[in-house]
Amino acid sequence: NMKVILKHYVSGSPQETDMHLTAGTIKLKAPTDSNAVVVKNLFLSCDPYMVFKMMKLDRHYSESYTPGLPITGYGVAKVLDSSHPDFKNDDLVWGLTGWEEYSLITETNHLFKIQHTDVPLSYYAGILGMPGMTAYIGFYELCSPKTGEYVFVSAASGAVGQLVGQFAKLQGCYVVGCAGSNEKNKFGFDEAFNYKEEPDYNAALKRFFPEGIDIYFDNVGGKILDAVLLNLRVYARIAVCGMISQYNLEQPEGVHNLTSIVMKQVRMQGYLVFDYYHLYPKYLQMILPMIREGKVVYVEDIADGLENAPAALVGLFSGRNIGKQVVAVNCV
Ligand code: NDP
Repeated sequence: NMKVILKHYVSGSPQETDMHLTAGTIKLKAPTDSNAVVVKNLFLSCDPYMVFKMMKLDRHYSESYTPGLPITGYGVAKVLDSSHPDFKNDDLVWGLTGWEEYSLITETNHLFKIQHTDVPLSYYAGILGMPGMTAYIGFYELCSPKTGEYVFVSAASGAVGQLVGQFAKLQGCYVVGCAGSNEKNKFGFDEAFNYKEEPDYNAALKRFFPEGIDIYFDNVGGKILDAVLLNLRVYARIAVCGMISQYNLEQPEGVHNLTSIVMKQVRMQGYLVFDYYHLYPKYLQMILPMIREGKVVYVEDIADGLENAPAALVGLFSGRNIGKQVVAVNCV
């Protein structure tokens, strides 16, 4: 059983060398006195939050990984053996699993049975899994979008951002995204800019939003958020989905323009998607027909094999991925 192990706790930007690949053995039988399942992992999802689990942090929302053990994350898998009444052999599932070929999953409350297989299975690591739910909850539940509103999305070509932009377009909004390279700026939004080439974010936002921003879907935090605060309309909403520009900094940057929140009567709300999984069936009802009818498209960046998983994960922090970063394992 090949697996990706965390070598040691990380501080600053994670590197490929903080992880290594090692061989082990696993019993492909779930203990009968448990609610566990044994799975064969098919796709693993690379997600920015995993960097927190690579650090030794106190008081964080999720526990750190243990050096020497395989790292864990979202994935798509096939059940090989089950002692759990809700899962049986050959079921396809998505949820929390290990970064290894085969996993014994004992915590099954974040494991979902896959019912629809007429769509690519890897989508359950992206548009039909955690990132899709994140876009859906942040945009629809938190931002209450209305037709004709002005929407700005950062990390616009990523797993979450590309969907938010498409949802906003379908809602009849005007949408601008920003991303870190020109080849990423092609996701069907009204406008897009490369924040690395245009470091005066305030000027860029004034150009694209002469009348201001109604909804900001924040994936990056930091200086981009600060510039957005200067360009909001009255009653604007900000979904604070993530702040990837701050995750690896020793000293997070300050945000200076918070007075706008009072003056423009803005609602700014952070959220964690796993508090909203009860809405997953409602999301599936909306998104599956959209996928089947081609109303949304989903760009994936699939790395092949566990040996390429560490590079794929750390690539999120330099913007190497174009679309949702997934690792294919055992897919032959
Ligand atoms: P992405 O697929 O968007 O990948 C991360 C992207 O972030 C990179 O491709 C890169 O694109 C961009 N990025 C990296 N470093 C920086 C930086 N310093 N400044 C600006 N952009 C940067 O990831 P996800 O879509 O999976 O996640 C997007 C955000 O959503 C993250 O902040 C994540 O933590 C958050 N999230 C929150 C959840 C929640 O429950 N609240 C759940 C899931 C995700 P580029 O080339 O544009 O720089």
